[in-house]
Amino acid sequence: MNKPTFATLWLDGCSGCHMSFLDIDENILEILNLVDIVYSPIVDIKEFPQNVDFTLVEGAVNTIEDVNKIEEVRRQTKTLIAFGDCAVTGNVPSLRNPFGKENTIKMAYPEEIMNFFKDGGLPEHLPKALPLNKVVDVDYFIPGCPPPANAIFEILKELISGSVPIATEWTRFGR
Ligand code: SF4
Repeated sequence: MNKPTFATLWLDGCSGCHMSFLDIDENILEILNLVDIVYSPIVDIKEFPQNVDFTLVEGAVNTIEDVNKIEEVRRQTKTLIAFGDCAVTGNVPSLRNPFGKENTIKMAYPEEIMNFFKDGGLPEHLPKALPLNKVVDVDYFIPGCPPPANAIFEILKELISGSVPIATEWTRFGR
């Protein structure tokens, strides 16, 4: 029987959530026994495949490119998991929200950098950085900045084996 397929996606986050995923150490072998990894920053596959069973998503939705990506990933994913506080609440990327997009860009990039980007190098930012569930339906939430490695491992194991994770309250809030 084919194993379920599994993907991870990195939107607007610092990669700390993926680092915590890698911190499950040798338990990754157990995850690899349960699933086929079909897309992730940790494997070299460029296109997001069709009909993925589970996708973990790190990071907030911050640009038009992020919106297009997460909408496509949502279409192709059966169980979508917001992975870490940036994906769950907006967290660090959303700190820019009270200042407005233009002000934040002005504060972050001096004029000479903006001149460098003037031919379209800077991605088109949304007015606000958003948590995933403001853009697409999310099936589960794993909070934490980053979520602890043992929680990631236990929750993934439960989800992949078809059980509802034990930490039901905090993985399903906001649904
Ligand atoms: S939740 Fe924390 S560790 Fe994860 S991407 Fe955001 S800032 Fe980084």
